[in-house]
Amino acid sequence: MSDMARVAIEPAERAEFGFETEVIVIGAGAAGLVASLSAREQGAEVVVLERDASPSGSTALSSGLVPAAGTRLQAEAGVTDSVDWLAEDIRLKAHGLVDDAVVQSLSAVIGPTLDWLVERHAIGFTLIDGFSYPGHRVRRMHGPVQRSGRYLVSDLERAARAAGAELLTSARVDTLFVRGDRVEGVRVARPDGSREDVRCKALVLACCGFAGNRELLSRYLPDMLDAAFLGHSGNEGHAVRWGELLGAELADMQSFQGHGSVAIPHQIGISWALMMSGGYQVNRLGQRFANEHRGYSEHARDVLKQPQALAFDIFDERCHQVGMAFDHYREAAKAGALVTRPTLEGLAEALGLPVDEFLKTHEQVGRFVAGEAQDPLGRNFTTKPALAAPYYGIRITGGLYHTQGGLAVDPQGRVRRQGGDLFPNLWAAGGAARGISGPADRGYLAGNGLMSAIGLGRLAGREAGQAVRKP
Ligand SMILES: Cc1cc2nc3c(=O)[nH]c(=O)nc-3n(C[C@H](O)[C@H](O)[C@H](O)COP(=O)(O)OP(=O)(O)OC[C@H]3O[C@@H](n4cnc5c(N)ncnc54)[C@H](O)[C@@H]3O)c2cc1C
Repeated sequence: MSDMARVAIEPAERAEFGFETEVIVIGAGAAGLVASLSAREQGAEVVVLERDASPSGSTALSSGLVPAAGTRLQAEAGVTDSVDWLAEDIRLKAHGLVDDAVVQSLSAVIGPTLDWLVERHAIGFTLIDGFSYPGHRVRRMHGPVQRSGRYLVSDLERAARAAGAELLTSARVDTLFVRGDRVEGVRVARPDGSREDVRCKALVLACCGFAGNRELLSRYLPDMLDAAFLGHSGNEGHAVRWGELLGAELADMQSFQGHGSVAIPHQIGISWALMMSGGYQVNRLGQRFANEHRGYSEHARDVLKQPQALAFDIFDERCHQVGMAFDHYREAAKAGALVTRPTLEGLAEALGLPVDEFLKTHEQVGRFVAGEAQDPLGRNFTTKPALAAPYYGIRITGGLYHTQGGLAVDPQGRVRRQGGDLFPNLWAAGGAARGISGPADRGYLAGNGLMSAIGLGRLAGREAGQAVRKP
């Protein structure tokens, strides 16, 4: 076992508990911070333990976009949506291979949760306008105005502290203490080598998945080992390791959120909004290779299969303006990832593409846009205008964002044992839990990651808070 995943389960008798609290939450990303707010609302004492010096997680690296149905922000914008539509879109994308009860529960809770975060805790969500992500039938993406998860994390951290949750940073949990099937506490390792044991009545695992652990990746997702990893190094797979040691049920371990557009060598994720606004991709041979509108997650593997695992985003000024609403895109522009030329020939030369082949591809795309021919890869190009000069290109590869497999949970986030019954005081939320994307990358619907972080965080924190408050 690598150092990264060296975590343990120990009998409670071996603990030397220095202090105690009611609910411990491991991890201060979206899942952990929302769980802490939710448990505080029940009146529970909450300690959040975060390995880093300040909260970040994959949440801070994300675009911070969360799908939700029936929110006040949607109502104000005149968008009609429903819990059933959202649940149906999630199931459709995952080909029905999901835990239906969890999908329904998350679809129902996420709308009211975003309203609660906005109204009760002043979290800066807006409704994302201007384009739709593949698979979402209506406008339902909500996110910080900067479209960056950094702002979401700092808002949530401020709210959690204001609500009275205690946040201990530089506090990496390496051991869970158990008695029978109950978790009695945890051991925290500090950067100076000291250790502290903390007793609790309920534990919420919110320490995300295993995309940052090469050993677990080579076991479950060996073909993604060479993909650009854009998630957080703290995604060490601790929840999975504890789950294995406890006899918990793990599910969908081959599922992950990939991304088919990571600028290289800059290693910056380029918003799929470019593809949804009329952009397309070609490989080094100047040829298209997959339908860009199926979803960005499964597109990562398509890109990785191209010569030298390389491809190019091709778009224009109009798409560029859409991209400029995204923090990551602006960062990529600043880093010099964008190539722009007044002509297609000039762009092909600047990107090192075979000019004739690229022009042929572009001409074909023009026929698809005009409705004169059908794209053999299955994309409907007719909904957006043809690209116009000046033209843009970005050299990209396929990326791994976070894993979607994890601890199987009930619809409130309580962890299941192998065999199906539930641990009495253990919950999991976000990347620590099994996702809602089915068993593979192609089932990931945009926003599934934060939807289950925030939705399960809300549910798990609430139930854990209620459980410890029972007389
Ligand atoms: C580039 C990128 C863009 C993305 N964009 C989106 C998007 O727009 N919408 C969307 O829905 N999803 C997106 N995602 C996915 C999304 O970021 C994740 O699904 C989500 O952030 C998971 O939240 P979390 O709270 O479970 O984990 P995290 O945010 O990763 O938080 C887990 C925390 O646990 C801490 N931790 C881990 N182990 C321990 C331990 N043993 N002790 C103490 N602390 C520990 C970590 O340091 C970390 O802070 C994106 C991901 C990436 C990488």
